[in-house]
Amino acid sequence: MTALEAVIAGQIQATGPLRMDDYMRLCLLHPEHGYYATRDPLGVQGDFTTAPEISQMFGELLGLALAQAWLDQGAPGAFVLAEPGPGRGTLMADILRATRAVPGFHTAARVHLVEASPALRKVQRKTLTGVDVTWHDSLETLPDAPLFCVANEFFDALPVRQLVRDGTGWRERVIGLRDGRLEPGLTEVKSVPLLDCRLADTSDGDLVEYCPEGVFWARALGQRIAKHGGTAILVDYGDWRSLGDTVQAVRGHTTAKITETPGNADLSAHVDFEALAQAAAPARHSRLTPQGVFLERLGITARAQALATALTGDRLDTHVAAHRRLTHPDEMGTLFKVMALYPEGAAPPPGLEP
Ligand code: SAH
Repeated sequence: MTALEAVIAGQIQATGPLRMDDYMRLCLLHPEHGYYATRDPLGVQGDFTTAPEISQMFGELLGLALAQAWLDQGAPGAFVLAEPGPGRGTLMADILRATRAVPGFHTAARVHLVEASPALRKVQRKTLTGVDVTWHDSLETLPDAPLFCVANEFFDALPVRQLVRDGTGWRERVIGLRDGRLEPGLTEVKSVPLLDCRLADTSDGDLVEYCPEGVFWARALGQRIAKHGGTAILVDYGDWRSLGDTVQAVRGHTTAKITETPGNADLSAHVDFEALAQAAAPARHSRLTPQGVFLERLGITARAQALATALTGDRLDTHVAAHRRLTHPDEMGTLFKVMALYPEGAAPPPGLEP
């Protein structure tokens, strides 16, 4: 039994089974034993990898899309360049390198990272040596200024509730105890007014996920962007409206049971982009676009060819594989989606046009 499993079992004994989101939150962010709180999951020995860790092209293109959105909105001075959940800081480093040539962008940008993990803040500090960075626990403390922001695989790390349709009510998936070990179960039927909107498109037995923190973050982004201007480019795996159980545990690049080794496996869930778009109003949202389409529209093939001219042997093979991995429909190209938030009257950033 891991240290965290003992903590969770104690909590269940004291107050009863835990909702899935409460369980995920403890597994990911428990201050002493939480998965993100204690380690760098993206390092060489890590459990999973992400687009910016696969290739510098991802961050370069995202950075240029963001800079174009900044130019299109009149190149506001002193803007916030922010990233929630920056991992190792690689994406922000690539964004900053690619935008060096955009006149005025760096002079006006103030870099703000929103990161819950002390372990990852340390890695980010190192990756972004020489950059003036301010860290935050939430969006609330960001300065009031136009907000240009990227979030890659951030929303999928936020805990979800899971509800199974039963008549006109729902049973909630919880983690309880059986013979001293963690075991998933279901509550009695209850009404969940938040999910009234899902009564029309589900039937008995369907499982629906709801991410309270995702809605909270999207609302905060939308309100800032509507008020101060800016753009948020959100990249994640998921779809428009979630259906079914998508919570998965990943350890050492393979999936595990969600109740196995809590605190030592990554837990994530697909993102319901419709819920985020609705929460972000009055900010507008772009069309949900597959990552492969988005990166092709931004010219990833030309960039890949330019980088390839300086490479040979294994490094060239790795580079070609990375291009495929980011864009191909059998890899990340279709599963991952991109959606931007932007103010009324502005255009969506390049690559996300209707
Ligand atoms: N964007 C990075 C890392 C993705 S992993 C990349 O693409 O490589 C998820 C990131 O979100 C980690 O940095 C994790 O510590 C952070 N995170 C998870 N929950 C968070 C929360 N509630 N508040 C702030 N950061 C959080």
